[in-house]
Amino acid sequence: MFENKKIFVLGMARSGYEACKLLSEYNNTILVTDMNEQDEEHVLELTKLGVRVEITSNPVELLDSSYDYVIKNPGIKYDNPLVVKAKELGIKVINEVEMAYSFLNKGVNVIGVTGSNGKTTTVNLIYNFLKEEKDNVFLGGNIGIPLSNFVRNIKDGSYLVLEISDHQLLDMYDFKTNVSVLTNITPTHLDFHPSYEVYKNTKKKIFNNHTKEDIAVINKEDKESNIVTENIVSTKYYYGNDNTCKCYYDDENIYYDNEKVISLKDIVLQGKHNYQNICAAIIAVKTYNVSNESINKVLKRFNGVEHRLEFVLEKNNIKFYNDSKATNCVSTNIALNSFNEPTILLLGGTDRGHSFHDLDNSIKNVKAIMCYGETKDRIEEYAKEMNIKCFKSNNLKEAMQNVKKVMESGDVVLLSPACASWDQYKCFEDRGNEFKELVKEITNE
Ligand code: ADP
Repeated sequence: MFENKKIFVLGMARSGYEACKLLSEYNNTILVTDMNEQDEEHVLELTKLGVRVEITSNPVELLDSSYDYVIKNPGIKYDNPLVVKAKELGIKVINEVEMAYSFLNKGVNVIGVTGSNGKTTTVNLIYNFLKEEKDNVFLGGNIGIPLSNFVRNIKDGSYLVLEISDHQLLDMYDFKTNVSVLTNITPTHLDFHPSYEVYKNTKKKIFNNHTKEDIAVINKEDKESNIVTENIVSTKYYYGNDNTCKCYYDDENIYYDNEKVISLKDIVLQGKHNYQNICAAIIAVKTYNVSNESINKVLKRFNGVEHRLEFVLEKNNIKFYNDSKATNCVSTNIALNSFNEPTILLLGGTDRGHSFHDLDNSIKNVKAIMCYGETKDRIEEYAKEMNIKCFKSNNLKEAMQNVKKVMESGDVVLLSPACASWDQYKCFEDRGNEFKELVKEITNE
């Protein structure tokens, strides 16, 4: 399919770069454009491979009908002028995963995970469960490792676990999984899609090309997921908190086919949302006969994906969690609902004008709020209104000194800032890493 073709790669970044490298090995004529300056070494490398690299804010002029395909970065919107022009010219627009998929051996077991929340956690669980028992397991996709990078190393009989975003699903046509998980659907990314209806139907594409032989793993607790999957032809397995589900959890255990798999007390991951992710992952790997023993091993050590309600350490009966990925109140609510312990909550960051009262229903266990960053004054005001003790600092380092003063046995200390990090950090990962360092400092002193 992608041999001796003329291909326009729109958007370089990591996936465009990997796509160009893969395509360059099949005698394709390739042009890649991006409006932002790119890593110099990457540009040099691609140029050496014969790829034409154009950094320009006006790529439309570069596209003409001689191109066979446009490979679009998933973050680029439908109404981008180049995408519109490509469609007018009758050029097929696809994304990097769809292109890379065409190079995949057809005897590979493909497991795809999509949903509004929980994708990264669920793919990591699936990957770890499978790795316990199989040698040839691969993880990639939206998680930051483009499929183009490793697709040709995947032999028949291997397992490929892919996180797929709704942006990626948009331009999928031939892509097909053997097992697809839909974690949930909530109204997010509505700045990208023309309507919620379109967003929901995009998620459904994770089941594209399925037959009865293929498995759909669906969250019974999520109404939208149930509606969207009503008419799919896949064999449907449900998970949730009632015992009619293939995999379910109650207050004590997780069960598969009505048989106990593990006690909740043996699982490091916390929170109902994580029990859902675990159930989804169990159904996915039971398709490949992974044993309860292996699942137990993983769940007893897996402390979450970095920066997503990640367990950092426990000292003097105080537990520290890093949930730096929580950049809005929805995520912070989920984190707060995962604990019954008295909680010291670190809140703050970039001010997007959002109301902290969206936390009202989850804040009951919070004994103190440590606020910092751009939003610190508004958070202080909020804490006053809620009658919660509040300590104001300029930054996380100072905030942690206040944590040290008030923390006591039995507490949870939670960084779940409900704000983006850009006022003081490059990204949420940097914020989470600093937090973890500070936790070590204050617990070692
Ligand atoms: P994604 O990859 O879809 O962004 P992650 O696994 O990275 O999801 O989790 C991001 C955040 O989403 C978590 O910190 C948590 O707040 C929330 N989350 C995770 N799993 C779920 C779930 N099953 N339902 C609702 N929210 C979830």
